[in-house]
Amino acid sequence: MAENAANFTTTYQSKPSIFEVIAEKSLDDTLYPALQKVALFLSSSFPRKFGFLNFYYDEAFATVNTLLQYYYLKYYDASFSENFYGLKRILLNDKPLTKHDKELSLLLLVAAPYFKRKIEEKLQCYRIEQAEGYLRKDFEGIRKQFLSYSHSAFEVLWHLWILNNYLRYMGGKTDSQLPLLHLLNLKLVYSNEQPSQSFWMELFKGNLRISDLSFGLIRNGVSAVLETSAFFLQFLQAWNAHRPNYNITDLPKVDAPSCDIKANTYRGKCPICLQIWLIPTVLPISGYIFCFKCISKHLQEKKKCPVTNLPARLQDVVRLYVDS
Ligand SMILES: [Zn+2]
Repeated sequence: MAENAANFTTTYQSKPSIFEVIAEKSLDDTLYPALQKVALFLSSSFPRKFGFLNFYYDEAFATVNTLLQYYYLKYYDASFSENFYGLKRILLNDKPLTKHDKELSLLLLVAAPYFKRKIEEKLQCYRIEQAEGYLRKDFEGIRKQFLSYSHSAFEVLWHLWILNNYLRYMGGKTDSQLPLLHLLNLKLVYSNEQPSQSFWMELFKGNLRISDLSFGLIRNGVSAVLETSAFFLQFLQAWNAHRPNYNITDLPKVDAPSCDIKANTYRGKCPICLQIWLIPTVLPISGYIFCFKCISKHLQEKKKCPVTNLPARLQDVVRLYVDS
């Protein structure tokens, strides 16, 4: 999908094609993991200054995303990724967006993915507990299992709804390309503005001078830098697509830790409860082995290895099947 996203398309048709909409969505989906990569690099390289990014990444991203989408909705009537693909939002009756429409668009562009990720993070913990046979048989366990299955069913229905919307759009039955746009009474059309390209052109020709600096020019400059970064991001995704097991959300790789005094202290026992492991579970980023219960509770609260302080998530733990 990311490969498709890196293509620029021409605008000969009056209606945006479904491929442009998919490419735009693909770029939108790439922003979160790409910035997460930067945040993980900063939090593991400078834990004192940027350690908070590991714990509050979702909130930090929501803040950056709010500013970014607010800016593009205000000046281009589009989200960042829509504007990147030369698209903008208008009402189904062909009128431009009102202030209220922009506020609703901003809410759905920022709040919906934030809460979706929070719910999925919680459900991922339930699924791991279930896979490890750690889910209790009482009401709490049944509630977790029910929520986990309901979410899976909802995901299937939601994707079917998106597919149905795509087919209806291609068949000319609806003008909205996505269910959320339909909900807001909006559609995507081609935008005629191409400010950032002219910015680069002027810059390379040497026509930009400090004395020319105006708010409009700075605005175009900011857009040009953001959009060029987005293009390189898509390019990087496409470039790395052939690498097996490559995932842009992977944590930064660190050198294998040497067997220091700490490792000897915890030899044969869990570094958290200092007992012999119960369901031995390794945290690959640091190499320490914990009880599943101890490490899952710790990671949910602190999101880092209790011994080395390296950033870690519950999804990263690996169950060890060893003779005790
Ligand atoms: Zn333990």
